[in-house]
Amino acid sequence: KLGNATAKAELGRASWKLLHTMMARFPETPTPDDSLALETYMRLFARLYPCGECAAHFQKLLRKYPPQTSGRNAAAGWACFVHNEVNKRLKKEEFDCNKIGDFYDCGCGDEGGKKED
Ligand code: FAD
Repeated sequence: KLGNATAKAELGRASWKLLHTMMARFPETPTPDDSLALETYMRLFARLYPCGECAAHFQKLLRKYPPQTSGRNAAAGWACFVHNEVNKRLKKEEFDCNKIGDFYDCGCGDEGGKKED
């Protein structure tokens, strides 16, 4: 099973970008429904992630480290942590999660996220 390493890496970069940017936009004070939505999203993401080997590993990771959905900082910190767990397994450099603050900007300009356009 050789696969296509370039496509897999590109899929990974795009997916991480989306995930971290979502976390940076998650409400600071989520409703229970917001929290449930994020929890459900992460479970389904892990289940449906198109690289099967990656999905299997990531599902295991989620069982060990359940998604933190109590607020933006917790969610962003959790996503940074699990990405670092994947980095470790792939022998990549770890990211300093204290620097996650302004790193992911969706370019949306609407801090509330409810309207625009
Ligand atoms: P990536 O890991 O894609 O990261 C992209 C950028 O995000 C980095 O350049 C850096 O600026 C930033 N970053 C790095 N670490 C963090 C962090 N902790 N928090 C926030 N930002 C960070 N590939 C495999 O070969 N095998 C697998 O089993 C596998 N499992 C995966 C599981 C998931 C859920 C995902 C999303 C991807 C998986 N991948 C897997 C792909 C792999 O994680 C990388 O995306 C891919 O190898 C490209 O790596 P990269 O070095 O370009 O950086």
